Amino acid sequence: MSNLFKKAYEGAVTAAGYAQIRLDQAIEEFGRDHAVGYPETAYFLPVITALEGTKVERLEQLVPILNKVKTQYLRPDFTFEGARNNGRVTLFAAEVIEACNYLDGPKYEAPWTGFLTDPILRRFGIQLVDFTIPGFAVIIGKAKDTKTAVEIFRNLQGKGIMIMLSNEIIEQLLEAGMTLGVDYIAFPLGNFTQVIHAVNYALRAGLAFGGVPAGELKQHLEYQKKRVRAFVLALGNQDDVRVAAEFGAMYLNHPTITDQPLAKEEEVSDWYISEPDPKKMVALGLELRGIKITSLDLDIPILMGPAFEGETIRKNDMHVEFGGTRTTAFEWVRMVGPDEIEDGKVSLIGPDIDSAEEGGKLPLGFMIKIYGRKMQKDFESVLERRIHDIVNFGEGLWHNAQRDLIWVRVSKASYAAGFRLHHLGEIAIAKLKADFPAIVDRVEIVIMTDQAEVDKVIVEARKTYAARDERMRGLTDEKCDMFYSCKLCQSFAPSHMCVITPERIGLCGAVNWLDARASHEIDPNGPNSAIERGEPTDPVKGFYPNVNEFIYTASNKALEEVSLYSFMEQPMTSCGCFEAILALFPEANGIMITTREYGGMTPCGMTFATLAGTVGGGAQTPGFMGVGRQYIISKKFIAGDGGLGRICWMPKDLKVYLRDEFVKRSVEAGLGEDFIDKIADEDVGSEPDVIAEFLEKVGHPALTMDSIVE
Ligand code: SF4
Ligand code: ZN
Repeated sequence: MSNLFKKAYEGAVTAAGYAQIRLDQAIEEFGRDHAVGYPETAYFLPVITALEGTKVERLEQLVPILNKVKTQYLRPDFTFEGARNNGRVTLFAAEVIEACNYLDGPKYEAPWTGFLTDPILRRFGIQLVDFTIPGFAVIIGKAKDTKTAVEIFRNLQGKGIMIMLSNEIIEQLLEAGMTLGVDYIAFPLGNFTQVIHAVNYALRAGLAFGGVPAGELKQHLEYQKKRVRAFVLALGNQDDVRVAAEFGAMYLNHPTITDQPLAKEEEVSDWYISEPDPKKMVALGLELRGIKITSLDLDIPILMGPAFEGETIRKNDMHVEFGGTRTTAFEWVRMVGPDEIEDGKVSLIGPDIDSAEEGGKLPLGFMIKIYGRKMQKDFESVLERRIHDIVNFGEGLWHNAQRDLIWVRVSKASYAAGFRLHHLGEIAIAKLKADFPAIVDRVEIVIMTDQAEVDKVIVEARKTYAARDERMRGLTDEKCDMFYSCKLCQSFAPSHMCVITPERIGLCGAVNWLDARASHEIDPNGPNSAIERGEPTDPVKGFYPNVNEFIYTASNKALEEVSLYSFMEQPMTSCGCFEAILALFPEANGIMITTREYGGMTPCGMTFATLAGTVGGGAQTPGFMGVGRQYIISKKFIAGDGGLGRICWMPKDLKVYLRDEFVKRSVEAGLGEDFIDKIADEDVGSEPDVIAEFLEKVGHPALTMDSIVE
């Protein structure tokens, strides 16, 4: 018998006992009716919601739940199955304890995150589905020394793994100067039971993206096994409760690797494994979950990965900057002929960054020449938009905006590590070839820091930008021959699919028609299939027989019909990574919009987090829909329900974000230049009657439109 199984039982007993005490105390102090829950989530206490199906809102509901899990699962059963069941008890116990910790409001302060909210969950949706973030690692405990802690952490970061941290490892990493937090996809959850927030995150993936109903235990376990590629690294001494929690992870099908020695009979093959070598630990975790990392073989002095995307470089930490109105700067992808390019070459015209004084600035021209047999002029902008990610994913590099508006910074640390401009070129060449193998055959890069050269070439670049804009304006749904589907999100939301048209961007905001088209060229059997447009039966609502036929087959006959331009009638489904949500606002005969960034209350009485819980998971929900923000300024924006003029409320930030284009569209739609100011926002309020009064006062067009509900 494995000693570990015994520890799992003892740990579960301790955890359940402690949970009971905490719960009794809480009831005594706050009363049985006291509200319980985590901030900004539509999934109550996710462990209990997912596995048990109970939507816990009051303290007293926890009493029978804790009793039930104890009587049904807590057993001195020293088998693997028994240990996993005791793990389940531990998950519930930790959830109860944490819920009690939140009774008088969130109490975790930086650097600890505690519970990760729904907006955080959704923020990484797209990176999870396209495997930019290929998996999750949960690190519990204390590494043998700081150096080892950093080594494991950097190894995971360089592979793009999402990292959840619990206990002493957090202090070790902070002490070593590592930056942690949501922006770095490395969450310092906290200590002790706070590790349950890793589980709360993982289980919500099933609830929010997978459309797995609350309480469907089997389906949730299956979802975790197939779609959530997580593993646990257990460092240092493992007390009983930690071991029990690790078996909780195993209950959800996520294995544990410990750096502690285990007797041969203690190892549970494929599930609980000892690996003292920190390098091999990570590799083993990836292997156990079938995570394949396609790493670029690049000889550069910095790490690359999504963990560095959110990194900011302050003025004091900066070695040099380019653009951002301080100097002239631009980036430009050009399609060229086979004879106009020398594959793999990076040239620099002007001084390198060692000649810039510390904290100084230089002009920049970043020109990428591409030749490819299947390259098309239309793909220039698709590739050009990638530069932002490519540069931003570099450690100590920061990139903002695009075209001739770019602003780039290089940190002192990366400069000191040996980073120079030619590395930027090498990274771009490698990434473009790796990500777009079918359309990119040869790449050459010309970097300019010479003012006269930059001034000369930027004129040409600007001509190209203008020509592209002209072409995009002419691209309409009526004029194109193909629409594209996107099933990228099916890795997490198995029944969801987007239909992408020139005038309707994917709801994540990350895939437009050109992107989908390019991706289809690259891999016709990949996530984006072509759908021959054909003629619509209802051009206003956007019913296309070809689209419906495609959807019916592709959804395994779950969806029969979808309208492209209506959110009231057979709307498109939503996965979970939408940028904004539309919701019916019947009191105003219109709609309201809220965004992931806006955490406040909305007129329909729900925050983004709660609304998202209604919309997501791949179901069709008339009156609610997730969209990409750019869709709002499309001519096809809910054309079937009255269009732009229906918008009665949206957050101020969204107004700012869309303003110029929005005003243009309003004028075009005959709503007038000041329509945007007739839309209520949080300054007006979030109560329907207050808003109605405001709309009345400003003469909002929705008030005189046909009834939206019919
Ligand atoms: Fe997911 Fe739709 Fe975006 Fe594709 S377009 S990644 S399916 S949200
Ligand atoms: Zn999605």
